Amino acid sequence: MKSVWNEQQQEIRDFYERIALERVRPSAAERDANLTFDRQIWRDLGDSGLFGLHMPEEFGGRGLGLREFAAALEGFARGCQDMGILVSFVAQVGLVQAGLLSYGSDEQKQRWLPGLIRGELLGSLAITEQGCGSDVRSMKLSATQELNGFCINGQKWNITNAPQADVVMTFAHVQDVGDKSVTCFITGTDVPGLERSEPFELLGNRGTPIGAFNFNNVQLPESAVVGGVGGGLNVLYFAFLVERVLTGLVITGCMEPLMEDCLRYSQERMAFGRPIGDNQYIQGQIVDMYCQIEVLRSVLLRAMDSMEEGADCSSLASLVKMIATESLHEACINAIRIHGNSGYRRDKYFERLLRDSIGVFFAGGTIEIHKHVIWTNLLDSFRKGQRNRDDLNLGVYRASGAVAQAATAFSKPAQEALA
Ligand SMILES: Cc1cc2nc3c(=O)[nH]c(=O)nc-3n(C[C@H](O)[C@H](O)[C@H](O)COP(=O)(O)OP(=O)(O)OC[C@H]3O[C@@H](n4cnc5c(N)ncnc54)[C@H](O)[C@@H]3O)c2cc1C
Repeated sequence: MKSVWNEQQQEIRDFYERIALERVRPSAAERDANLTFDRQIWRDLGDSGLFGLHMPEEFGGRGLGLREFAAALEGFARGCQDMGILVSFVAQVGLVQAGLLSYGSDEQKQRWLPGLIRGELLGSLAITEQGCGSDVRSMKLSATQELNGFCINGQKWNITNAPQADVVMTFAHVQDVGDKSVTCFITGTDVPGLERSEPFELLGNRGTPIGAFNFNNVQLPESAVVGGVGGGLNVLYFAFLVERVLTGLVITGCMEPLMEDCLRYSQERMAFGRPIGDNQYIQGQIVDMYCQIEVLRSVLLRAMDSMEEGADCSSLASLVKMIATESLHEACINAIRIHGNSGYRRDKYFERLLRDSIGVFFAGGTIEIHKHVIWTNLLDSFRKGQRNRDDLNLGVYRASGAVAQAATAFSKPAQEALA
């Protein structure tokens, strides 16, 4: 079957798969067990160019297209099988770098992007608080306007990369500016009053440091505002789109070797005198994995094309995230079932990936919230479509010169529209 990647993209994909196999995968289980994040690996990945393949050259990126970057990321995920480092990657590249590139001032981009792209800095984006997750507007972090900037107080909670982050984009309500108050700020984490917690003990994604930020009278200048006062949700929703697409890419990369391992085992493992893969129940589970990978890739490519064209892709991005999350979780359980007793052992990566797959149900928005996004878009286009159809009907009547007669037969709203 024809690959979705052209020759150059395939080379890029293979290159990053090799890097991941050599540099990341061998220590993935250890980092998961010990709750550690390896900054040297992060710097090495920066040196490899991975963080900036698609970013402009003026900030240290390579200026390649989205497809080339996607091929690299899929290959990297395929090689590393480590949803710890991948979650860190998605938080920095998908949320921070994307938000900064699209909404940051020239000064902010010059200051932060080169270090992030080189892997010298670790970036974090903080919305969630102990009292609010999905309902982002109910956040309590507050920014009080002062003579030379803002004073920030409050806490952010369960934030990827927080315990080691050098730079954070955070969101707060600016006081006394009315309803549109959610504002994005970017700052180094070395400013007075900003503290980072130790990594949280979580079920999965343990190879990424996840923790809290405490803001105690943190003074930030006006130049720390990204996207204008009150423009925080624009920054956030754009960053979410990129984050969802990147999550889909890394999950596609993780699922492929999972399926291949199951396929191999189904041919090797004998039961009742024949390979277990001779049974349709086993075949069905592996075929499901294959189908999910293919569906995911197709939706991903459509989402990326829309993104490049600047078209609205929020439903597609949410669809990517939903398919990816549910497919990975199901594939992990089935991989363990297919491998039987040996799949249940901790020296296989299946159980680690299964634990990690649960975190993806929340990170970047829950499945319920993605359904809500899709529903809202559906309803919106349904209503627009209905309005367009009404307009079209009115147009036909006008064109036929039958307006006067037809108007009498119309309902009151339609007559008003014709007037
Ligand atoms: C691995 C990991 C990494 C993370 N990284 C970050 C990060 O870098 N930055 C950051 O800011 N946050 C991060 N988070 C937090 C994540 O964004 C939140 O967990 C998520 O938004 C959900 O919020 P919550 O956990 O408070 O759940 P809640 O919002 O309290 O929701 C609880 C349950 O209610 C459901 N629910 C809520 N509202 C509705 C509704 N309207 N309709 C139907 N169901 C609803 C939810 O789907 C969920 O099942 C991370 C989380 C994880 C697990």
